[in-house]
Amino acid sequence: MAAGQRKCRSKRINVWRQVMVKTWIEEASRNNCSALRVLPLYYAMTEWYRDPETVRVLYGLTVSNGIVKKLSSGVAESSVAGTIGVLVTPSLYPLDQFTLARDVQPGFNSLIDSVSRSHEFLTSALENVLETDSFTRRLFEIYKKTRQDNQQTCSLGIHRCDYMLDWRGDDGGMGLRQIEINTVACSIQGFAPGLKSFHEYVSSRYAENETFNVPQNLCLEATVDAFAIAWNEFKNEEAAILFVVEEETFNMYDQLAIEVDLWKRYSIKCLRRTLSQVHGEARLGPGRQLILLDIVCAVVYFRAGYSPSDYPTDKEWEARLLIESSTASLSPSAAYQLMGTKKVQQCLASPGALEQFVSDPKLVKKMRSTFAGQYALDKTPEGDRAVELALQDPDRFVLKPQREGGGNNYYGNDVRVKMEEIRDTPEREAYILMDRVHPPPQMGLILRPHPRVLELEREPVISELGIYGTYVRRGEKVVLNTAAGHCLRTKPVAVNEGGIGVGASYLDSPSLVATEDFIRKIKHSIIM
Ligand code: ADP
Ligand code: MG
Repeated sequence: MAAGQRKCRSKRINVWRQVMVKTWIEEASRNNCSALRVLPLYYAMTEWYRDPETVRVLYGLTVSNGIVKKLSSGVAESSVAGTIGVLVTPSLYPLDQFTLARDVQPGFNSLIDSVSRSHEFLTSALENVLETDSFTRRLFEIYKKTRQDNQQTCSLGIHRCDYMLDWRGDDGGMGLRQIEINTVACSIQGFAPGLKSFHEYVSSRYAENETFNVPQNLCLEATVDAFAIAWNEFKNEEAAILFVVEEETFNMYDQLAIEVDLWKRYSIKCLRRTLSQVHGEARLGPGRQLILLDIVCAVVYFRAGYSPSDYPTDKEWEARLLIESSTASLSPSAAYQLMGTKKVQQCLASPGALEQFVSDPKLVKKMRSTFAGQYALDKTPEGDRAVELALQDPDRFVLKPQREGGGNNYYGNDVRVKMEEIRDTPEREAYILMDRVHPPPQMGLILRPHPRVLELEREPVISELGIYGTYVRRGEKVVLNTAAGHCLRTKPVAVNEGGIGVGASYLDSPSLVATEDFIRKIKHSIIM
Protein backbone atom coordinates (compact mmCIF):
# COMPACT_ATOMS: atom_id res chain seq x y z
CA MET A 1 0.00 0.00 0.00
CA ALA A 2 1.35 3.42 -0.94
CA ALA A 3 2.29 5.76 1.94
CA GLY A 4 -0.34 8.36 0.94
CA GLN A 5 -3.07 5.75 0.85
CA ARG A 6 -1.98 4.43 4.23
CA LYS A 7 -2.12 7.88 5.79
CA CYS A 8 -5.56 8.49 4.36
CA ARG A 9 -6.80 5.18 5.64
CA SER A 10 -5.45 5.64 9.18
CA LYS A 11 -7.07 9.10 9.30
CA ARG A 12 -10.40 7.55 8.37
CA ILE A 13 -9.96 4.79 10.95
CA ASN A 14 -9.19 7.40 13.61
CA VAL A 15 -12.40 9.26 12.82
CA TRP A 16 -14.22 5.96 12.94
CA ARG A 17 -12.65 5.14 16.34
CA GLN A 18 -13.71 8.50 17.76
CA VAL A 19 -17.28 7.81 16.69
CA MET A 20 -17.05 4.41 18.31
CA VAL A 21 -15.66 5.70 21.59
CA LYS A 22 -18.59 8.11 21.74
CA THR A 23 -21.01 5.23 21.04
CA TRP A 24 -19.26 3.17 23.69
CA ILE A 25 -19.68 5.82 26.37
CA GLU A 26 -23.28 6.49 25.36
CA GLU A 27 -24.05 2.79 25.44
CA ALA A 28 -22.59 2.51 28.93
CA SER A 29 -24.64 5.39 30.27
CA ARG A 30 -27.80 4.11 28.56
CA ASN A 31 -27.32 0.79 30.32
CA ASN A 32 -26.45 2.56 33.50
CA CYS A 33 -23.18 0.69 33.92
CA SER A 34 -19.48 1.27 33.86
CA ALA A 35 -17.90 1.81 30.46
CA LEU A 36 -15.70 -1.24 31.14
CA ARG A 37 -18.74 -3.55 31.11
CA VAL A 38 -19.43 -2.69 27.48
CA LEU A 39 -15.76 -2.78 26.50
CA PRO A 40 -16.16 -5.98 24.42
CA LEU A 41 -18.91 -4.22 22.49
CA TYR A 42 -16.55 -1.35 21.83
CA TYR A 43 -13.85 -3.67 20.56
CA ALA A 44 -16.35 -5.46 18.34
CA MET A 45 -17.46 -2.17 16.90
CA THR A 46 -14.02 -0.77 16.22
CA GLU A 47 -12.89 -3.74 14.10
CA TRP A 48 -12.27 -2.68 10.52
CA TYR A 49 -14.95 -4.95 9.20
CA ARG A 50 -17.61 -3.07 11.18
CA ASP A 51 -16.98 0.08 9.20
CA PRO A 52 -20.03 0.49 6.90
CA GLU A 53 -17.82 2.02 4.23
CA THR A 54 -15.60 -1.06 4.18
CA VAL A 55 -18.59 -3.40 4.12
CA ARG A 56 -20.07 -1.50 1.18
CA VAL A 57 -16.81 -1.79 -0.74
CA LEU A 58 -16.45 -5.51 -0.04
CA TYR A 59 -19.98 -6.32 -1.16
CA GLY A 60 -19.42 -4.30 -4.31
CA LEU A 61 -16.12 -6.03 -4.90
CA THR A 62 -17.69 -9.50 -4.91
CA VAL A 63 -20.08 -8.29 -7.60
CA SER A 64 -17.45 -6.53 -9.70
CA ASN A 65 -15.24 -9.64 -9.50
CA GLY A 66 -18.06 -11.79 -10.82
CA ILE A 67 -18.54 -13.80 -7.62
CA VAL A 68 -22.27 -13.75 -8.26
CA LYS A 69 -25.33 -15.82 -8.99
CA LYS A 70 -28.66 -15.10 -10.52
CA LEU A 71 -30.92 -13.92 -7.73
CA SER A 72 -34.54 -14.01 -8.80
CA SER A 73 -36.61 -16.72 -10.28
CA GLY A 74 -38.64 -16.15 -13.41
CA VAL A 75 -36.54 -13.35 -14.90
CA ALA A 76 -34.38 -13.40 -18.02
CA GLU A 77 -31.06 -15.17 -17.41
CA SER A 78 -28.62 -12.31 -16.92
CA SER A 79 -30.94 -9.65 -15.63
CA VAL A 80 -30.45 -9.87 -11.86
CA ALA A 81 -27.17 -10.90 -10.24
CA GLY A 82 -26.07 -10.68 -6.62
CA THR A 83 -23.14 -11.83 -4.55
CA ILE A 84 -22.49 -15.42 -3.55
CA GLY A 85 -21.36 -15.58 0.05
CA VAL A 86 -17.61 -15.50 0.69
CA LEU A 87 -15.17 -15.65 3.57
CA VAL A 88 -13.67 -12.18 3.67
CA THR A 89 -10.21 -13.41 4.66
CA PRO A 90 -8.76 -16.80 3.66
CA SER A 91 -9.16 -19.62 6.20
CA LEU A 92 -6.14 -21.45 7.55
CA TYR A 93 -5.47 -24.91 6.18
CA PRO A 94 -2.66 -27.35 7.09
CA LEU A 95 -0.13 -27.60 4.27
CA ASP A 96 0.61 -31.33 4.57
CA GLN A 97 -3.07 -32.31 4.36
CA PHE A 98 -3.55 -30.03 1.36
CA THR A 99 -0.53 -31.62 -0.32
CA LEU A 100 -1.79 -35.12 0.43
CA ALA A 101 -5.19 -34.35 -1.14
CA ARG A 102 -3.52 -32.97 -4.25
CA ASP A 103 -1.02 -35.84 -4.51
CA VAL A 104 -3.65 -38.58 -4.50
CA GLN A 105 -5.89 -36.91 -7.11
CA PRO A 106 -4.31 -38.58 -10.20
CA GLY A 107 -4.78 -41.90 -8.36
CA PHE A 108 -8.48 -41.11 -7.88
CA ASN A 109 -8.82 -40.04 -11.53
CA SER A 110 -7.44 -43.42 -12.65
CA LEU A 111 -9.58 -45.23 -10.11
CA ILE A 112 -12.75 -43.55 -11.41
CA ASP A 113 -11.86 -44.55 -14.95
CA SER A 114 -11.00 -48.15 -14.06
CA VAL A 115 -14.13 -48.67 -11.97
CA SER A 116 -16.30 -47.18 -14.71
CA ARG A 117 -14.88 -49.85 -17.05
CA SER A 118 -15.53 -52.71 -14.64
CA HIS A 119 -19.01 -53.96 -15.45
CA GLU A 120 -18.74 -56.60 -12.73
CA PHE A 121 -17.86 -54.11 -9.99
CA LEU A 122 -20.55 -51.60 -10.95
CA THR A 123 -23.18 -54.31 -11.27
CA SER A 124 -22.43 -55.99 -7.98
CA ALA A 125 -22.06 -52.70 -6.08
CA LEU A 126 -25.35 -51.29 -7.34
CA GLU A 127 -27.39 -54.51 -7.51
CA ASN A 128 -29.51 -53.83 -4.43
CA VAL A 129 -29.77 -50.09 -5.02
CA LEU A 130 -31.28 -50.71 -8.45
CA GLU A 131 -34.22 -52.56 -6.92
CA THR A 132 -35.61 -49.55 -5.08
CA ASP A 133 -33.93 -46.44 -6.52
CA SER A 134 -35.60 -45.77 -9.86
CA PHE A 135 -33.30 -42.84 -10.76
CA THR A 136 -30.12 -44.92 -10.45
CA ARG A 137 -31.91 -47.79 -12.24
CA ARG A 138 -32.75 -45.68 -15.29
CA LEU A 139 -29.20 -44.36 -15.48
CA PHE A 140 -27.89 -47.92 -15.18
CA GLU A 141 -30.19 -49.05 -18.00
CA ILE A 142 -28.70 -46.39 -20.28
CA TYR A 143 -25.21 -47.45 -19.28
CA LYS A 144 -26.05 -51.11 -20.03
CA LYS A 145 -27.61 -50.32 -23.40
CA THR A 146 -24.67 -48.27 -24.61
CA ARG A 147 -21.65 -49.84 -22.95
CA GLN A 148 -21.00 -52.63 -25.49
CA ASP A 149 -20.65 -50.36 -28.49
CA ASN A 150 -19.35 -47.34 -26.62
CA GLN A 151 -18.80 -44.68 -29.26
CA GLN A 152 -17.36 -41.83 -27.20
CA THR A 153 -14.30 -40.28 -28.80
CA CYS A 154 -12.65 -39.91 -25.38
CA SER A 155 -13.39 -40.72 -21.77
CA LEU A 156 -13.45 -37.29 -20.19
CA GLY A 157 -13.32 -36.73 -16.45
CA ILE A 158 -13.85 -33.38 -14.75
CA HIS A 159 -13.95 -34.56 -11.14
CA ARG A 160 -13.69 -33.13 -7.66
CA CYS A 161 -12.81 -35.00 -4.48
CA ASP A 162 -14.09 -33.31 -1.35
CA TYR A 163 -12.39 -33.57 2.04
CA MET A 164 -12.88 -32.48 5.61
CA LEU A 165 -10.30 -32.58 8.39
CA ASP A 166 -11.19 -34.96 11.16
CA TRP A 167 -10.16 -33.37 14.42
CA ARG A 168 -10.08 -35.62 17.46
CA GLY A 169 -8.90 -33.13 20.02
CA ASP A 170 -5.39 -32.38 21.16
CA ASP A 171 -4.47 -36.01 21.74
CA GLY A 172 -6.28 -37.61 18.83
CA GLY A 173 -4.54 -35.76 16.00
CA MET A 174 -6.02 -34.79 12.73
CA GLY A 175 -6.58 -36.58 9.42
CA LEU A 176 -7.85 -35.78 5.96
CA ARG A 177 -11.17 -37.55 5.29
CA GLN A 178 -12.77 -37.88 1.90
CA ILE A 179 -16.41 -36.82 2.01
CA GLU A 180 -17.18 -37.81 -1.54
CA ILE A 181 -15.91 -38.16 -5.09
CA ASN A 182 -17.91 -36.00 -7.50
CA THR A 183 -17.94 -37.09 -11.12
CA VAL A 184 -20.83 -34.96 -12.36
CA ALA A 185 -21.40 -31.22 -12.52
CA CYS A 186 -18.36 -30.32 -10.40
CA SER A 187 -18.75 -26.61 -10.05
CA ILE A 188 -17.40 -23.25 -8.79
CA GLN A 189 -14.14 -23.35 -10.78
CA GLY A 190 -15.37 -20.23 -12.55
CA PHE A 191 -15.06 -18.10 -9.42
CA ALA A 192 -11.37 -18.81 -8.77
CA PRO A 193 -9.96 -15.74 -10.60
CA GLY A 194 -12.49 -13.36 -9.00
CA LEU A 195 -11.92 -14.83 -5.55
CA LYS A 196 -8.16 -14.45 -5.94
CA SER A 197 -8.49 -10.81 -6.80
CA PHE A 198 -11.00 -10.26 -3.95
CA HIS A 199 -8.72 -11.84 -1.35
CA GLU A 200 -5.67 -10.00 -2.66
CA TYR A 201 -7.48 -6.70 -2.22
CA VAL A 202 -8.65 -7.55 1.30
CA SER A 203 -5.24 -8.70 2.46
CA SER A 204 -3.39 -5.70 1.07
CA ARG A 205 -5.90 -3.17 2.32
CA TYR A 206 -7.37 -4.41 5.58
CA ALA A 207 -5.16 -7.16 6.86
CA GLU A 208 -1.68 -5.74 6.33
CA ASN A 209 -0.39 -7.30 9.50
CA GLU A 210 -1.42 -10.81 8.61
CA THR A 211 0.35 -12.99 6.06
CA PHE A 212 -1.75 -15.26 3.92
CA ASN A 213 -0.15 -18.10 2.04
CA VAL A 214 -2.76 -18.73 -0.65
CA PRO A 215 -1.59 -21.29 -3.21
CA GLN A 216 -1.95 -20.68 -6.92
CA ASN A 217 -5.28 -22.03 -8.14
CA LEU A 218 -5.67 -22.78 -11.83
CA CYS A 219 -8.87 -24.79 -11.59
CA LEU A 220 -10.70 -22.77 -14.23
CA GLU A 221 -7.86 -22.99 -16.73
CA ALA A 222 -7.31 -26.70 -16.03
CA THR A 223 -10.99 -27.51 -16.56
CA VAL A 224 -11.02 -25.58 -19.82
CA ASP A 225 -7.77 -27.27 -20.94
CA ALA A 226 -9.32 -30.71 -20.39
CA PHE A 227 -12.36 -29.79 -22.47
CA ALA A 228 -10.10 -28.42 -25.19
CA ILE A 229 -8.03 -31.64 -25.28
CA ALA A 230 -11.17 -33.79 -25.67
CA TRP A 231 -12.56 -31.36 -28.24
CA ASN A 232 -9.30 -31.50 -30.19
CA GLU A 233 -9.41 -35.29 -30.33
CA PHE A 234 -12.74 -34.99 -32.19
CA LYS A 235 -10.91 -33.31 -35.08
CA ASN A 236 -13.63 -30.97 -36.27
CA GLU A 237 -12.94 -27.25 -35.90
CA GLU A 238 -16.59 -26.39 -36.40
CA ALA A 239 -17.79 -28.65 -33.59
CA ALA A 240 -19.17 -27.14 -30.37
CA ILE A 241 -19.29 -28.09 -26.72
CA LEU A 242 -22.81 -28.64 -25.44
CA PHE A 243 -23.58 -27.67 -21.83
CA VAL A 244 -26.62 -29.57 -20.56
CA VAL A 245 -28.24 -27.21 -18.06
CA GLU A 246 -31.23 -26.92 -15.77
CA GLU A 247 -34.44 -25.18 -16.81
CA GLU A 248 -33.39 -22.29 -14.60
CA THR A 249 -29.72 -21.92 -13.66
CA PHE A 250 -28.90 -19.80 -10.63
CA ASN A 251 -25.18 -20.60 -10.69
CA MET A 252 -24.89 -19.42 -14.29
CA TYR A 253 -21.87 -17.09 -13.95
CA ASP A 254 -19.70 -19.97 -12.79
CA GLN A 255 -20.63 -21.84 -15.98
CA LEU A 256 -20.24 -18.71 -18.08
CA ALA A 257 -16.60 -18.34 -16.99
CA ILE A 258 -15.84 -21.77 -18.51
CA GLU A 259 -17.75 -20.89 -21.66
CA VAL A 260 -15.90 -17.58 -22.06
CA ASP A 261 -12.45 -19.05 -21.40
CA LEU A 262 -13.09 -21.80 -23.96
CA TRP A 263 -13.69 -19.11 -26.54
CA LYS A 264 -10.89 -16.77 -25.43
CA ARG A 265 -8.09 -19.34 -25.36
CA TYR A 266 -9.28 -21.97 -27.83
CA SER A 267 -11.99 -20.33 -30.01
CA ILE A 268 -14.35 -23.15 -29.06
CA LYS A 269 -18.06 -22.34 -29.19
CA CYS A 270 -20.49 -23.56 -26.57
CA LEU A 271 -24.22 -24.20 -26.62
CA ARG A 272 -26.54 -24.43 -23.62
CA ARG A 273 -29.60 -26.68 -23.70
CA THR A 274 -31.87 -28.45 -21.24
CA LEU A 275 -32.43 -32.17 -21.70
CA SER A 276 -35.90 -31.38 -22.93
CA GLN A 277 -34.49 -29.02 -25.60
CA VAL A 278 -31.93 -31.67 -26.58
CA HIS A 279 -34.86 -34.03 -27.10
CA GLY A 280 -36.50 -31.56 -29.45
CA GLU A 281 -33.42 -30.40 -31.36
CA ALA A 282 -30.80 -33.15 -31.42
CA ARG A 283 -30.31 -36.23 -33.58
CA LEU A 284 -27.59 -38.69 -34.44
CA GLY A 285 -25.95 -37.92 -37.79
CA PRO A 286 -23.52 -39.91 -39.93
CA GLY A 287 -21.12 -42.02 -37.88
CA ARG A 288 -23.34 -41.38 -34.80
CA GLN A 289 -22.28 -37.76 -34.48
CA LEU A 290 -24.42 -35.75 -32.09
CA ILE A 291 -26.02 -32.96 -34.09
CA LEU A 292 -27.99 -30.19 -32.43
CA LEU A 293 -30.01 -28.29 -35.06
CA ASP A 294 -27.14 -28.28 -37.57
CA ILE A 295 -24.20 -28.03 -35.18
CA VAL A 296 -22.01 -31.04 -34.43
CA CYS A 297 -21.20 -31.49 -30.72
CA ALA A 298 -17.73 -32.80 -29.90
CA VAL A 299 -18.15 -32.73 -26.13
CA VAL A 300 -21.14 -32.73 -23.77
CA TYR A 301 -20.78 -31.23 -20.30
CA PHE A 302 -23.56 -32.12 -17.87
CA ARG A 303 -24.27 -29.32 -15.41
CA ALA A 304 -27.69 -30.93 -14.99
CA GLY A 305 -28.85 -34.51 -15.20
CA TYR A 306 -27.78 -35.67 -11.73
CA SER A 307 -31.13 -35.14 -10.06
CA PRO A 308 -34.49 -36.88 -10.67
CA SER A 309 -36.06 -33.44 -11.13
CA ASP A 310 -33.92 -32.98 -14.29
CA TYR A 311 -35.91 -35.83 -15.87
CA PRO A 312 -39.58 -34.87 -15.39
CA THR A 313 -40.73 -37.05 -18.32
CA ASP A 314 -39.46 -39.89 -20.50
CA LYS A 315 -38.34 -37.31 -23.05
CA GLU A 316 -35.38 -36.25 -20.90
CA TRP A 317 -34.30 -39.87 -20.44
CA GLU A 318 -34.53 -40.36 -24.21
CA ALA A 319 -32.32 -37.28 -24.67
CA ARG A 320 -29.77 -38.72 -22.24
CA LEU A 321 -29.79 -42.02 -24.14
CA LEU A 322 -29.32 -40.18 -27.44
CA ILE A 323 -26.31 -38.27 -26.08
CA GLU A 324 -24.89 -41.45 -24.59
CA SER A 325 -25.17 -43.27 -27.94
CA SER A 326 -23.17 -40.60 -29.79
CA THR A 327 -19.48 -40.06 -30.52
CA ALA A 328 -19.29 -36.98 -28.30
CA SER A 329 -16.99 -37.16 -25.27
CA LEU A 330 -19.16 -36.90 -22.17
CA SER A 331 -18.43 -35.33 -18.82
CA PRO A 332 -19.65 -37.51 -17.35
CA SER A 333 -20.71 -40.67 -19.17
CA ALA A 334 -23.41 -42.74 -17.45
CA ALA A 335 -20.61 -45.08 -16.29
CA TYR A 336 -18.64 -42.21 -14.69
CA GLN A 337 -21.81 -40.92 -13.07
CA LEU A 338 -22.62 -44.37 -11.66
CA MET A 339 -19.05 -44.61 -10.35
CA GLY A 340 -19.77 -41.37 -8.45
CA THR A 341 -22.74 -42.79 -6.54
CA LYS A 342 -22.43 -43.00 -2.78
CA LYS A 343 -22.94 -46.77 -2.91
CA VAL A 344 -19.99 -47.40 -5.24
CA GLN A 345 -17.80 -45.21 -3.01
CA GLN A 346 -18.87 -47.14 0.06
CA CYS A 347 -17.94 -50.40 -1.71
CA LEU A 348 -14.55 -48.96 -2.67
CA ALA A 349 -13.87 -48.15 0.97
CA SER A 350 -14.31 -51.79 1.99
CA PRO A 351 -11.16 -53.89 2.58
CA GLY A 352 -9.41 -55.12 -0.55
CA ALA A 353 -11.52 -53.11 -3.01
CA LEU A 354 -8.99 -50.41 -3.89
CA GLU A 355 -6.32 -53.04 -4.57
CA GLN A 356 -8.43 -54.43 -7.42
CA PHE A 357 -7.91 -51.18 -9.33
CA VAL A 358 -4.71 -49.55 -8.09
CA SER A 359 -1.53 -51.58 -8.46
CA ASP A 360 0.91 -49.35 -6.53
CA PRO A 361 0.68 -50.38 -2.84
CA LYS A 362 2.11 -47.04 -1.65
CA LEU A 363 -0.56 -45.16 -3.55
CA VAL A 364 -3.26 -47.50 -2.23
CA LYS A 365 -2.08 -46.73 1.30
CA LYS A 366 -2.16 -42.98 0.74
CA MET A 367 -5.58 -43.06 -0.91
CA ARG A 368 -7.02 -45.33 1.77
CA SER A 369 -5.68 -43.06 4.52
CA THR A 370 -8.24 -40.47 3.39
CA PHE A 371 -11.27 -42.77 3.71
CA ALA A 372 -13.79 -42.30 6.48
CA GLY A 373 -15.66 -45.35 7.81
CA GLN A 374 -18.55 -46.24 5.50
CA TYR A 375 -21.14 -48.95 6.08
CA ALA A 376 -23.54 -50.80 3.78
CA LEU A 377 -27.13 -51.07 4.95
CA ASP A 378 -27.75 -54.33 3.10
CA LYS A 379 -30.05 -56.96 4.59
CA THR A 380 -27.12 -58.90 6.01
CA PRO A 381 -25.92 -59.35 9.61
CA GLU A 382 -23.33 -56.55 9.05
CA GLY A 383 -26.04 -54.31 7.59
CA ASP A 384 -28.26 -55.01 10.61
CA ARG A 385 -25.37 -54.12 12.91
CA ALA A 386 -24.87 -50.81 11.10
CA VAL A 387 -28.60 -50.05 11.48
CA GLU A 388 -28.39 -50.72 15.23
CA LEU A 389 -25.27 -48.57 15.62
CA ALA A 390 -26.97 -45.65 13.89
CA LEU A 391 -30.08 -45.99 16.04
CA GLN A 392 -28.01 -46.05 19.23
CA ASP A 393 -25.69 -43.19 18.36
CA PRO A 394 -27.06 -41.16 15.43
CA ASP A 395 -24.67 -38.25 16.05
CA ARG A 396 -21.75 -40.47 15.08
CA PHE A 397 -23.01 -40.82 11.49
CA VAL A 398 -24.35 -39.21 8.34
CA LEU A 399 -27.02 -41.15 6.43
CA LYS A 400 -26.79 -40.71 2.65
CA PRO A 401 -29.12 -41.66 -0.20
CA GLN A 402 -27.90 -42.04 -3.81
CA ARG A 403 -28.29 -38.36 -4.62
CA GLU A 404 -26.09 -35.46 -5.65
CA GLY A 405 -26.29 -31.73 -5.35
CA GLY A 406 -26.74 -31.18 -1.63
CA GLY A 407 -29.69 -31.17 0.76
CA ASN A 408 -30.33 -34.92 0.67
CA ASN A 409 -28.42 -36.31 3.67
CA TYR A 410 -29.59 -36.95 7.25
CA TYR A 411 -27.76 -35.75 10.37
CA GLY A 412 -28.23 -36.03 14.13
CA ASN A 413 -31.65 -37.18 15.28
CA ASP A 414 -32.90 -37.25 11.68
CA VAL A 415 -30.58 -40.24 11.15
CA ARG A 416 -32.55 -42.13 13.81
CA VAL A 417 -35.95 -41.02 12.50
CA LYS A 418 -35.13 -41.97 8.90
CA MET A 419 -33.51 -45.22 9.95
CA GLU A 420 -36.62 -46.22 11.94
CA GLU A 421 -38.64 -45.50 8.83
CA ILE A 422 -36.53 -47.57 6.41
CA ARG A 423 -35.00 -50.29 8.58
CA ASP A 424 -37.55 -52.97 7.64
CA THR A 425 -37.98 -51.92 4.01
CA PRO A 426 -35.92 -52.83 0.93
CA GLU A 427 -35.36 -49.07 0.47
CA ARG A 428 -32.74 -49.12 3.21
CA GLU A 429 -30.25 -50.76 0.83
CA ALA A 430 -30.28 -47.63 -1.32
CA TYR A 431 -28.69 -45.67 1.57
CA ILE A 432 -25.22 -45.79 3.04
CA LEU A 433 -23.99 -44.81 6.48
CA MET A 434 -20.81 -42.81 6.96
CA ASP A 435 -18.81 -41.79 10.02
CA ARG A 436 -19.42 -38.16 10.74
CA VAL A 437 -16.29 -36.04 10.36
CA HIS A 438 -15.69 -33.15 12.75
CA PRO A 439 -13.40 -30.48 11.30
CA PRO A 440 -11.61 -28.12 13.68
CA PRO A 441 -13.43 -24.77 13.87
CA GLN A 442 -11.73 -21.41 13.40
CA MET A 443 -13.05 -17.87 13.37
CA GLY A 444 -14.26 -16.71 9.98
CA LEU A 445 -15.56 -13.43 8.69
CA ILE A 446 -18.59 -14.13 6.51
CA LEU A 447 -20.02 -11.90 3.80
CA ARG A 448 -23.46 -13.37 3.30
CA PRO A 449 -25.47 -13.23 0.08
CA HIS A 450 -28.36 -10.78 -0.30
CA PRO A 451 -28.74 -9.58 3.31
CA ARG A 452 -31.33 -6.93 4.26
CA VAL A 453 -28.58 -4.84 5.83
CA LEU A 454 -25.01 -4.99 4.53
CA GLU A 455 -22.86 -6.39 7.33
CA LEU A 456 -20.13 -8.94 7.95
CA GLU A 457 -20.36 -11.55 10.65
CA ARG A 458 -17.49 -13.10 12.54
CA GLU A 459 -18.25 -16.58 13.81
CA PRO A 460 -16.77 -20.10 14.19
CA VAL A 461 -16.60 -21.87 10.85
CA ILE A 462 -15.48 -25.19 9.36
CA SER A 463 -14.11 -25.88 5.89
CA GLU A 464 -14.36 -28.48 3.16
CA LEU A 465 -11.53 -28.72 0.64
CA GLY A 466 -12.23 -29.79 -2.93
CA ILE A 467 -9.47 -30.95 -5.27
CA TYR A 468 -10.37 -30.97 -8.94
CA GLY A 469 -9.06 -33.71 -11.20
CA THR A 470 -9.02 -33.85 -14.97
CA TYR A 471 -8.62 -36.98 -17.06
CA VAL A 472 -8.76 -37.74 -20.77
CA ARG A 473 -8.32 -41.22 -22.24
CA ARG A 474 -8.51 -42.08 -25.92
CA GLY A 475 -8.66 -45.82 -26.48
CA GLU A 476 -5.99 -47.19 -24.17
CA LYS A 477 -3.93 -44.01 -24.24
CA VAL A 478 -4.21 -41.74 -21.21
CA VAL A 479 -3.82 -38.28 -22.68
CA LEU A 480 -4.32 -36.32 -19.45
CA ASN A 481 -4.39 -37.24 -15.76
CA THR A 482 -3.77 -34.50 -13.27
CA ALA A 483 -4.82 -32.64 -10.14
CA ALA A 484 -6.50 -29.53 -11.50
CA GLY A 485 -6.70 -26.87 -8.82
CA HIS A 486 -8.85 -26.63 -5.73
CA CYS A 487 -11.72 -24.91 -3.98
CA LEU A 488 -12.46 -24.27 -0.33
CA ARG A 489 -16.03 -24.03 0.91
CA THR A 490 -16.57 -22.83 4.44
CA LYS A 491 -19.69 -22.78 6.60
CA PRO A 492 -20.76 -21.94 10.16
CA VAL A 493 -19.99 -24.84 12.54
CA ALA A 494 -23.62 -25.59 13.25
CA VAL A 495 -24.59 -26.10 9.59
CA ASN A 496 -24.79 -29.77 8.60
CA GLU A 497 -25.08 -29.58 4.83
CA GLY A 498 -22.39 -28.20 2.56
CA GLY A 499 -22.51 -26.70 -0.91
CA ILE A 500 -22.57 -23.25 -2.41
CA GLY A 501 -25.59 -24.00 -4.58
CA VAL A 502 -27.86 -24.86 -1.66
CA GLY A 503 -26.59 -21.78 0.23
CA ALA A 504 -25.07 -23.82 3.06
CA SER A 505 -21.46 -22.77 2.60
CA TYR A 506 -19.45 -19.87 1.22
CA LEU A 507 -16.50 -19.49 -1.12
CA ASP A 508 -13.11 -19.33 0.56
CA SER A 509 -9.39 -19.63 -0.20
CA PRO A 510 -7.02 -21.76 1.86
CA SER A 511 -4.10 -20.05 3.54
CA LEU A 512 -1.54 -22.81 4.01
CA VAL A 513 0.36 -23.19 7.27
CA ALA A 514 2.48 -25.90 8.87
CA THR A 515 0.26 -28.34 10.78
CA GLU A 516 1.87 -27.50 14.17
CA ASP A 517 1.00 -23.85 13.63
CA PHE A 518 -2.46 -24.64 12.28
CA ILE A 519 -3.88 -25.93 15.56
CA ARG A 520 -2.21 -23.21 17.61
CA LYS A 521 -3.45 -20.49 15.30
CA ILE A 522 -7.03 -21.66 14.97
CA LYS A 523 -7.34 -22.00 18.75
CA HIS A 524 -6.01 -18.51 19.08
CA SER A 525 -8.51 -17.26 16.50
CA ILE A 526 -11.43 -18.71 18.47
CA ILE A 527 -10.26 -17.14 21.74
CA MET A 528 -9.68 -13.70 20.21
P1 ADP B 1 -23.81 -34.21 -2.06
O1 ADP B 1 -23.62 -35.17 -3.16
O2 ADP B 1 -25.23 -33.85 -1.83
O3 ADP B 1 -22.89 -33.03 -2.17
P2 ADP B 1 -22.13 -35.02 0.17
O4 ADP B 1 -21.81 -36.40 0.54
O5 ADP B 1 -21.02 -34.23 -0.39
O6 ADP B 1 -23.40 -35.04 -0.78
O7 ADP B 1 -22.68 -34.26 1.45
C1 ADP B 1 -23.13 -32.95 1.43
C2 ADP B 1 -22.50 -32.18 2.57
O8 ADP B 1 -22.79 -32.80 3.81
C3 ADP B 1 -21.00 -32.10 2.49
O9 ADP B 1 -20.58 -31.01 1.69
C4 ADP B 1 -20.62 -31.93 3.96
O10 ADP B 1 -20.71 -30.58 4.35
C5 ADP B 1 -21.67 -32.73 4.69
N1 ADP B 1 -21.19 -34.10 4.95
C6 ADP B 1 -21.28 -35.15 4.13
N2 ADP B 1 -20.71 -36.24 4.66
C7 ADP B 1 -20.23 -35.86 5.85
C8 ADP B 1 -19.52 -36.54 6.89
N3 ADP B 1 -19.20 -37.82 6.79
N4 ADP B 1 -19.20 -35.82 7.99
C9 ADP B 1 -19.51 -34.51 8.10
N5 ADP B 1 -20.19 -33.82 7.16
C10 ADP B 1 -20.55 -34.49 6.05
MG1 MG C 1 -20.87 -32.93 -2.02
